[in-house]
Amino acid sequence: MLMDNFARRINYLRISITDRCNLRCRYCMPDEGISLIPHAEVLRYEEILQVARLFVQLGINKIRLTGGEPLARKGVLDLIRRISRIQEIEDLSLTTNGVLLGEFASDLVRMGIKRINISLDTLNREKFAYITRRDRFPDVYKGIEKALEVGLSPVKLNVVAIKGFNDDEILHFAKLTLEKPLTVRFIEFMPTGGVDLWSRDHLLTADMIRNEIEKMCPLIPVDGEERDGPAARFRLNGAVGELGFISPISRHFCTYCNRLRLTPDGKLRACLFSDVEIDLKSHLRNHCNDEKLKDLLITALRNKPKKHTIDTALFRKCQRTMSTIGG
Ligand code: SAM
Ligand code: SF4
Repeated sequence: MLMDNFARRINYLRISITDRCNLRCRYCMPDEGISLIPHAEVLRYEEILQVARLFVQLGINKIRLTGGEPLARKGVLDLIRRISRIQEIEDLSLTTNGVLLGEFASDLVRMGIKRINISLDTLNREKFAYITRRDRFPDVYKGIEKALEVGLSPVKLNVVAIKGFNDDEILHFAKLTLEKPLTVRFIEFMPTGGVDLWSRDHLLTADMIRNEIEKMCPLIPVDGEERDGPAARFRLNGAVGELGFISPISRHFCTYCNRLRLTPDGKLRACLFSDVEIDLKSHLRNHCNDEKLKDLLITALRNKPKKHTIDTALFRKCQRTMSTIGG
């Protein structure tokens, strides 16, 4: 079992397999785009598999693939097939913007993905085109329907809540769960590298969103359990789906953090908000042995901060954009 310095059990690895993306979300990427990691510096699938196998031996049993847009990387289905064959992995999932999901959903299930997170911040096509700088709403909506049709479960919709952008759609999103078996999760807008859009004025906290929904209908805690990882879980009366609230800013959940992150260029990050990284790629490419790689993982764990400092004067935005970390 992997434990960090604060007795948190670490069993979850998020792998960002590419920094490329077919959308340009304003809160994730700067207007001018990002300077992309050169292809030669991006971890090859063999290298990702080597890291996954080794980390699994040490106690990781949950892997999520993310990006950039993971479905935009060539050969991703084969990578999924190979990771899903690693016996000790109990949970293999994917976070996607949904643009390519209509064409990929059936194959994802065939290759071993059981559940999926889809990011969608508005149900309005014009607003979607504004926030993502691409007119792909119909594709994403088709992708969500396809994900449900092929039996992915749960299908979670991640909604970044931004005051002045989608605060008028909270109820609309919540009502989706009355008819569709979706888990709609509202995520507080976070300050990340490369973009200057974030300010406290844009922050719509989890409490504000809950209050807005509770004006319409009481929120019933799911199974008496309020948490699903970072999310507090609820249901509307009679709903087939669920609601979740993720509050990295207003009520941090660092105490429960069980994850490490691997960037597309092979850096291991112990915290989304800390730029302390361990360079696995150079060691992989210098053919270092498994013992050395295990040592590096342990070093990353030792560096995992107790909590982020967003709410303090010490806070410095991380250098990387979200698209190169994976969320
Ligand atoms: N492209 C895929 C997608 O959008 O689902 C995967 C990568 S994306 C970086 C992962 C998640 O990070 C998405 O749900 C996205 O909405 C979220 N994200 C990006 N920037 C964010 C920010 N500043 N605050 C909160 N969430 C953010
Ligand atoms: Fe791409 Fe996801 Fe970032 Fe949007 S949030 S630009 S879809 S990586």
